[in-house]
Amino acid sequence: MRFNPKARLDTSRTSGGHVGGGGGGRIPIPGGKASGGIGTVILLLVFFLVTQCMGVGPQVLGDSGSSTSVGTGTFGGLQAADGGETGDFGSCRTGEDANNDENCAFVALENSMTGYWDSQPDLSGRFQPEQAVVIFSDQVQTGGCGSASSSVGPFYCPADQTIYLDPTFFDSIFEQLGGQDTTFVRAYVLAHEYGHHIQNLLGTMGQVRTQQGPESDAVRLELQADCYAGMWTAAAEDDGFVEDITDQDIEEGISAAKTVGDDHIQSRTTGRVDTSQYTHGSSEQRIAWFRKGLTTPDSIAGCDTFKANDLDNP
Ligand SMILES: [Zn+2]
Repeated sequence: MRFNPKARLDTSRTSGGHVGGGGGGRIPIPGGKASGGIGTVILLLVFFLVTQCMGVGPQVLGDSGSSTSVGTGTFGGLQAADGGETGDFGSCRTGEDANNDENCAFVALENSMTGYWDSQPDLSGRFQPEQAVVIFSDQVQTGGCGSASSSVGPFYCPADQTIYLDPTFFDSIFEQLGGQDTTFVRAYVLAHEYGHHIQNLLGTMGQVRTQQGPESDAVRLELQADCYAGMWTAAAEDDGFVEDITDQDIEEGISAAKTVGDDHIQSRTTGRVDTSQYTHGSSEQRIAWFRKGLTTPDSIAGCDTFKANDLDNP
């Protein structure tokens, strides 16, 4: 995947730097779980959080009781502490910068996704860009979804309409799961999180009742975000920011969808698959809905996972 070298980048919604920080960024371990080897506990917890946070952060973060502990004011303060809205991204000016710098690539991708969804007829009159994409390291305080460490993985916080991601996720946890870190894999992940923002705007997120299981609302929400990522992918080449998306890129996206399937993660971490614990859908389902999105870039109706009778066959 390459970006149009002449594209002018808008960094106004991307902030970066070492927000939060301190303490080494480890996940706090809940009490009473010290048996079975602390390493195992940490590992399982990390993967649990990854499975949650490739999606909707706040539910799991809310479980820790911290979801209401951080106000939006705190978030604004963090941005200011970073030196303003542009953070470390002030040097990202053109698509050429995005081709040469991984952080600038996030800016170009965000610009592309904002432009795509802004012109999507189904969102006419209802679209607003996300408040921010926050690229963080170590630890971050959200504006309403508690705090998160690097190990949590990318997530979207509906309360502050912000996407959070730590790029080290891609070359640590994601690779441990058997994935590969490429520009398009990052694009797929960002597009998935952007999909959650669209769901937030449309009120879909508020309709989620069942949080676990193969047919749960949570799984349907996640598969829909994969489908929305496919929609953007299918349209991205025409937008002025993305110069080309190759067949190889698409294969990488499909491979990434496979990597983050519940069955794949479960079998890698516990050696068995328990569909009753599904929150994001199986590898095959995630691939299927990403592919479905590729075929329907002009309308979100094709991504209605909530009406689908058979999630295996969109
Ligand atoms: Zn998701």
